[in-house]
Amino acid sequence: MRGASVWAGLLGVEKALVDEVVLDPDEEVIVCSVRPRKGERNRCGVCRRRCPGYDGGEGVRRWRALDLGTVRAVVEAESPRVRCRDHGVVVAAVPWARHGAGHTRYFDDTVAWLAVACSKTTVTQLMRIGWRTVGGIVKRVCADVDAVTDRFAGLRRIGIDEISYKKGHKYLTVVVDHDTGTLVWAAPGRDRATLTGFFDALGAERSQALTHVSGDGAEWIGHVVAKHAPQAVLCADPFHVVAWATQCLDDVRREVWNQIRRQPGGTVPGGSRVGLRYQMSRGDAKTIQRSRWALWKNPEDLTANQVDKLAWIAKTSPRLHRAYLLKEGLRHVFKIKGEQGKTALHCWLGWAQRCRIPAFVALGRKIKRHLPAIHAALDHGLSNGLIESVNTKIRLITRIAFGFKDPNALIALAMLTLGGYRPPLPGRN
Ligand SMILES: [Zn+2]
Repeated sequence: MRGASVWAGLLGVEKALVDEVVLDPDEEVIVCSVRPRKGERNRCGVCRRRCPGYDGGEGVRRWRALDLGTVRAVVEAESPRVRCRDHGVVVAAVPWARHGAGHTRYFDDTVAWLAVACSKTTVTQLMRIGWRTVGGIVKRVCADVDAVTDRFAGLRRIGIDEISYKKGHKYLTVVVDHDTGTLVWAAPGRDRATLTGFFDALGAERSQALTHVSGDGAEWIGHVVAKHAPQAVLCADPFHVVAWATQCLDDVRREVWNQIRRQPGGTVPGGSRVGLRYQMSRGDAKTIQRSRWALWKNPEDLTANQVDKLAWIAKTSPRLHRAYLLKEGLRHVFKIKGEQGKTALHCWLGWAQRCRIPAFVALGRKIKRHLPAIHAALDHGLSNGLIESVNTKIRLITRIAFGFKDPNALIALAMLTLGGYRPPLPGRN
């Protein structure tokens, strides 16, 4: 056929011969009939080894290709089966698509690139596919990346974390490289068996090379690390310790808010259990409710409005303000790190013990239990920001990937986005 190589190039069909290109007017799609080149025929779909033919399989089938302008395009070919000595009777490999895929390799690669770079709506509308199809594609592309990259090379300091998805009903265990800030491993579940899977994948030799492992202080992490990498120093992730304090602060905020809300007539007498100095109204309860962000944010990131809100809290609810200062004090400990940080933490523990806020008294006790791991984090100056930013990004991906229904698709998207090996667009170097 004349111009066959032009069509092959346009459709991204490599190592194949183009027989015919027609526009199917009923379906408004360009159909390109192809055959693999001689050397590409009769290869196992799994291992791509040459093997004897078995039968015609399901006959002619189609693979969705990249659109040509505004028109959809498909590649059409025979889909015979072969008998592989390792994989039995399987559909023969085709050079233009991954095994088991309903799309060409270029189509898959483009979707994977878009899924990492764009919103869900952009990907599904531009490529005219469902979001679950995107999930299947990112899994295939990620498997290809995994086959040729060594994600564990030079791993020394790692952070182990759990991320919730499906509205907090399910969990992923994730492992992040502290030195590069990349995601190196993830799996569904959060228990000893899940984490053991990571050390199995890492292997004994590389497990022995780990110097520091940080986590949220969970017992199951400590247990598995002690077994597989006993030489590694177990550190508490500063990010999690500060998050504990933020949680306590939120408990106090809610408690104060509920106290004001429940008072008949909308006011509370001064000097009540929540430590309010003077009468507060129901309107104040609203303001307390809305002060959440002002209380959570780092002081340097506050807006003028939020600074005002904090000043108002300091005046009207000394107890809530004290809780805020306790949270900030703990954050400061990890900011200064080292011996200074340890001294500051010692002072902080005394303060927490005397603060008369049950949530923070309990937090003080919890921190004392984890003191060796927290001291280790201060000694080794583990960065808080890096892990926190990876953590935030994974949480964002779990929300975007919600519709995948398959945790492995979610993991694949996270690995492609944060694993340091982003899929390239086809046809560019
Ligand atoms: Zn095979």
